[in-house]
Amino acid sequence: MTQQFDGNAAFLNNGNDLIVVLGHGQLARMMYLGASQLGLNIIAVDAAKDPAQRACVNPVCKSILNVSVEQAFEHCVAITSEFEHLPKDLVAQAESTGKFKPNAKAIAAGADRIVEKQLLESLNIPNCAHQIVRSVEDLKSAYQTLGPKLILKTSRDGYDGYGQWRMFNQAEFKQVCGELETFDFEHMPLVAEQCVQFEREISLLGVTDSQGNHQYYPLTENHHGAGQLVLSLAPAPNVTAELQEKAQAIHQKMATELNYTGVLAVELFQIGDELLVNEIAPRVHNSGHWTQQGAAASQFENHIRAVAGLPLGDTQAQHLVAMVNYVGEAKPSSDLLALKNTHLHWYDKEVRAKRKMGHINLVANSESELQALIDQVHKLLPESLANNLAKIKQ
Ligand code: AMP
Repeated sequence: MTQQFDGNAAFLNNGNDLIVVLGHGQLARMMYLGASQLGLNIIAVDAAKDPAQRACVNPVCKSILNVSVEQAFEHCVAITSEFEHLPKDLVAQAESTGKFKPNAKAIAAGADRIVEKQLLESLNIPNCAHQIVRSVEDLKSAYQTLGPKLILKTSRDGYDGYGQWRMFNQAEFKQVCGELETFDFEHMPLVAEQCVQFEREISLLGVTDSQGNHQYYPLTENHHGAGQLVLSLAPAPNVTAELQEKAQAIHQKMATELNYTGVLAVELFQIGDELLVNEIAPRVHNSGHWTQQGAAASQFENHIRAVAGLPLGDTQAQHLVAMVNYVGEAKPSSDLLALKNTHLHWYDKEVRAKRKMGHINLVANSESELQALIDQVHKLLPESLANNLAKIKQ
């Protein structure tokens, strides 16, 4: 059971130091860690659908604070978010304060694939060929145009591969058509995307300060399992200056259009020199966790600096990092921590299958050093995670 925490005076004492984060998961927790080194405080909001259930919580221990959401909004210098799938009324309430960063438009683009696709199209940013599906008839027409390999995605509430159907042949297509006979398309329109044969998945994290200055981290190479990020390598190997610049140009177009402040993550498919935007996340992102050890200022610190109106920290990579997500497994033994240059970040959540429990950053100064560390860590991981790491073993 969470307990009432009566330290509200400490939280509200100095509004210039307080930032409110909508959402109270691990990203809010890590924003708190990034903020506290700057002497700033964070209140997280349990963004329940039912306004009566919403509460301000301590982002680390999750105790309920004796502070209302309205009080927190009133006393803070900025409101930000760790999650885009937020109740609309809460986003509107945050926006109405004039302190919400990034802003409701950016949250909507991250939360709704239809809005996101419209944004990409309006800016002429390359993305996967797609069609909006509002009926089984629409799906049939999409399959004709975009098939034979198609991915169908819910327009909202989909993340980590949830809310998706994959159709790689006629039989699978027919099965999905059958499944969707009774689907409520009006409530939840879908997006059908052509399945792309990409070479790899990469992401670009950039941060924009309150004056509109942009800074970018180097591109990150990402590996997924069952639709979920399992491993990132940063800086991504074999990236030319042209590719980095191309990704930055895409990012800048979007950040400018959205009048963005804070960290914006852009997930990309690479095909040769071509980049297609898969999706965007208007927040700090799992593929940026490597920055905690690999860059002078982490994505969490930089996001907080941006929304608080402070100058940005350096985004250059200082080391090579392999970030391994600890998914669905209990906390590792201290043997792992005994390995030099291995950094555990644990979120203190109850273990559940497919749940992100923590991550490990493996840090090195050369590829051979990183590979040696990966080999050592590989032996200490549970089988499911060791298999993920095997993907980057030679
Ligand atoms: P998403 O939730 O849209 O990021 O999808 C989860 C994962 O599914 C991505 O990271 C890709 O590995 C894969 N995926 C999504 N869309 C496509 C696509 N159009 N073509 C090929 N793979 C895709």
